[in-house]
Amino acid sequence: MNPPEPLALLPKADLHVHQEATRYLDLVLAEREGREPYDWAAWRRRLAAEVPPGRERLLRIGSTQPVPLALDADDELFVARFAALMRDHAAAGACYVEVRCGGDVVTRDGFMSLFRRAERQVRAEYPRLRAEALAILVHGARDPRQTAAFAEGCVRAADEGLAGVDFLYTPYDTEADWTPMYRLAERFAEAGLGITAHAGEVSTANIAAAAAMPGLTRIGHGVHAAADPELMRLLADRGVTLECALTCNAYFGVLPEVDGHPLTRLVEAGVPVTLATDNPVQLGTTIEREYALAAGLGLGPERLADLTRNAIRAAFTSDERKAAMLAELAEAERARLSGGRGGPARR
Ligand SMILES: [Zn+2]
Repeated sequence: MNPPEPLALLPKADLHVHQEATRYLDLVLAEREGREPYDWAAWRRRLAAEVPPGRERLLRIGSTQPVPLALDADDELFVARFAALMRDHAAAGACYVEVRCGGDVVTRDGFMSLFRRAERQVRAEYPRLRAEALAILVHGARDPRQTAAFAEGCVRAADEGLAGVDFLYTPYDTEADWTPMYRLAERFAEAGLGITAHAGEVSTANIAAAAAMPGLTRIGHGVHAAADPELMRLLADRGVTLECALTCNAYFGVLPEVDGHPLTRLVEAGVPVTLATDNPVQLGTTIEREYALAAGLGLGPERLADLTRNAIRAAFTSDERKAAMLAELAEAERARLSGGRGGPARR
């Protein structure tokens, strides 16, 4: 898809991308070995033919590993696969990306310095790209000892620059007891970590509970809030930002509305919204494509710029980086309004 020029010039931000460890390792190795990478388009077609849309299909999201995860132990490959993810985002016009990584990755020795090494490599080519790392806690508190070790690791990594924690709690489609997560979230917030949580992707369950979590400022997905005016009011009043992944929602068939994505309804209700790729390799998308899809839903250039502005404001990064990105966004907006002259180069 070739987006119109104003969209190409707009700085974009992705607050919700999973690291896709073995998928990016496969891309890096395929290029080095001169072979084709794993065919994710065929995988998507197969899965769509075999598994009905909704929760069932969503559960298959991490079902295929194209190369062994053991390869990730190699520091050089580890850096290369993070750099590949960041480069994909930079090439798609992103000024900012937050990468969600598992607990084993975040607690790896020297994780943040390897992550920063990848970021420096990409910034040498795309100086406007900034990246931060998040830890994702999946099915927290099921194994208290493992959860405690994860929490320790995150707090330690916060000192080294880890930006935040994302909770992916279960049950996902019905109301869960979030109380144990609140205690953890409190501890993370005290350590200076940003807090977000996966909720409201497949139903309205857990949106209100997540929004009440100490320190939480964002929700991953949350699109089912569009089905409930009270939930939308709650999110708007608390300024909870939704990380919306249009391609992901459409492919897995989890939307609350039958006639398309409720993105514009959320925007009209005053809910701060941003865009996200979620699993770009597996889903065959880029952050530029997500913005083009949002344009297709009826968001004009100002509203698209708002998405980036929302993302920068809600980003788990330093005030210095936020100020620099907001200034670049303002510069791009001025260039757009003066007819595209003097706009920032895309890299
Ligand atoms: Zn996600």
